[in-house]
Amino acid sequence: MLQNLKTIFKSNIKSLEILYVLENTKPCARILVYEDKLSNILDFLKSNDLGFSVSNFKLKKIFNENSFYSDKSVKIEKDSLEKGYFFVYISRIKELAEKAKAYEENNMHFELGMVLGYPKCCCEFFKKNFNENNADLTLETLRNSEGFEFPFYTNIAARHFDISLLSHFPCSFNCKFSIDMGIENLNLIKKHSGQLAETFENTMKNAFLYTKGNGVFLLKKFNEENNEIKFEKIIGTTKNELYNELNNIKKIKMINKNEIEINDKKISNIGMMLFTWNKP
Ligand SMILES: [Zn+2]
Repeated sequence: MLQNLKTIFKSNIKSLEILYVLENTKPCARILVYEDKLSNILDFLKSNDLGFSVSNFKLKKIFNENSFYSDKSVKIEKDSLEKGYFFVYISRIKELAEKAKAYEENNMHFELGMVLGYPKCCCEFFKKNFNENNADLTLETLRNSEGFEFPFYTNIAARHFDISLLSHFPCSFNCKFSIDMGIENLNLIKKHSGQLAETFENTMKNAFLYTKGNGVFLLKKFNEENNEIKFEKIIGTTKNELYNELNNIKKIKMINKNEIEINDKKISNIGMMLFTWNKP
């Protein structure tokens, strides 16, 4: 089934959203669908007896020239000639999909999060921190988290590589409800594809250097000692100057989780996080 979903929805994250609804582990899902693909997707939902609702507006994604992934977008009219993405809300209960659509239209972020089945603490966190200029709350999650080493189940930085066990920003990387949700989702993936579950675990269990607008970097086979992080391989959302420097030196000195040194050069306003634990 997962392979079939992937053929239709293209991305892992979107396919999983549908799988969770089909498997009754998520009350309602919300995905972005490019307008040219909309009728195809709606046909699929109808043939699977899933209720859905489509937003009354479109989103135009704003891509930073350094990245092919974007959390940033602007609303445009649904009849605009400019191409865009619709939000599609999907649930076994059609009214829930309608509710989610109405909450989003009225900027009721807390209520929307609850309908989508996110933990209450994380809905509150999102409402408090989200604004039009700050749609990516990864660094806020880090600020709210004790320490810099976390259970990989809450690793939302990996979504830049189409891998995530959560569809919300956890209030903290140690949020117990989010960890439980991540474990449950990983078990479900395992049931459908042991191979995909393994890819998820192997990708998520790494060190991540997170910047706003200058790339996200996955540092593989890392080792941390006395605040020095050495790694063997780097995968980035972009191949910019920072990527090249990291790829050459393969080590980072950590001053704190928001400040690092590479080649004695300080870089601030970043997030440095290590995702490790197997069992919380
Ligand atoms: Zn939480």
